[in-house]
Amino acid sequence: MSVEELKSWISAHKDEIFANDAVGTGCFSYLPGEIIWAVTKRCNLKCKHCSISEVGSGELTTEEGFGLIEDAAKLGPVKFGFTGGEPLLREDIYDLIEYAASFDMQVVMATNGTLITNEVAKRLKKAGLERAAMSIDAVGSAHDVFRGVNGAFKNMLRGLKACEEEGLSVQFFTTVTRDNYSGIPEIIKFADDLNIWRIYLIYLIAVGRGKQISEACLSTDENMEFFDYTATEQTEVNTWLKPICNPQYWAYMEDKEIVDRVDGTKFTGCTAGITRFHIFPNGDVAPCAYLPVKAGNIKETPFLDIVRNSEMFKALRARKLKGHCGTCKYKRICGGCRSRAYATSGDYLGEDPVCSLWENQRD
Ligand code: SF4
Ligand code: SF4
Repeated sequence: MSVEELKSWISAHKDEIFANDAVGTGCFSYLPGEIIWAVTKRCNLKCKHCSISEVGSGELTTEEGFGLIEDAAKLGPVKFGFTGGEPLLREDIYDLIEYAASFDMQVVMATNGTLITNEVAKRLKKAGLERAAMSIDAVGSAHDVFRGVNGAFKNMLRGLKACEEEGLSVQFFTTVTRDNYSGIPEIIKFADDLNIWRIYLIYLIAVGRGKQISEACLSTDENMEFFDYTATEQTEVNTWLKPICNPQYWAYMEDKEIVDRVDGTKFTGCTAGITRFHIFPNGDVAPCAYLPVKAGNIKETPFLDIVRNSEMFKALRARKLKGHCGTCKYKRICGGCRSRAYATSGDYLGEDPVCSLWENQRD
């Protein structure tokens, strides 16, 4: 792949790449904000890399959930995402989706897909869900090994087809580790053949159950090779490949002069605690799913008060970063993955250790 080829691909796909849903390229992003609620810890699978297992127990009631949704809607036309655990295990999930969809918000759901039959897909669509994001870590039975349950791949595929038949948009979530790295091209081809709109290629953050497999995290060099691979592969497929937990991907692209900020693109880098907020099942509010540090709990303090007044969120918004990220010229457009900084140093304002772009900036 030449730089020119990738530039030309980006130019041809600019509308979709830099549409609102991809603004802040480099990680999750949606303006004016993304509110993600993990409605339950319960799950029917046993994924090796699950990030939620260390979070406290308890679930918000339906009424508390309605209150959260109302507060989120006051922030403007945000994206409101339901996740888990497996959100379909919550009995009131259709009521919650329907309530969220009654506001001017994009309503999405992350699911392992295995519980979605045609009937379920029909109910989700009717409730107002716009898109289901399904997790896939390999094509075929290797996916079952990652997910810890036989038949997980077959059932996810059934869910995918049911969503398509009912007119529900689907995207993929793929956690990229040393263990499945060699299978990533197959996943991308699989997605492209199915006309999947987008894949989030998610760096493994060693939190929750992921701590037990931290040696499977890509090193800095491997991650930079992954960026090269992703950029190259992007010119071959229509599925939009979006690295997640890797805001430095777009700093890297700018470093290589593949994209340019003056090109009308909007980079916001890591959005944790800035425009992205995660609510754990027990009501704890955190900056990101992979950053389990409590800014407050909505059973005690209204969600909007936490968003506005949390000292953690204020520090993240001000990008009071340390180490290489603090002095990096890409601080504003990248900021490093705050979850990875936290997972490795215990400091969510610390430097993101999986980056070498700062090295080119030395005198
Ligand atoms: S040093 Fe930090 S801010 Fe700079 S590109 Fe790397 S991760 Fe991003
Ligand atoms: S903390 Fe990491 S995973 Fe979360 S929004 Fe920031 S870059 Fe993405």
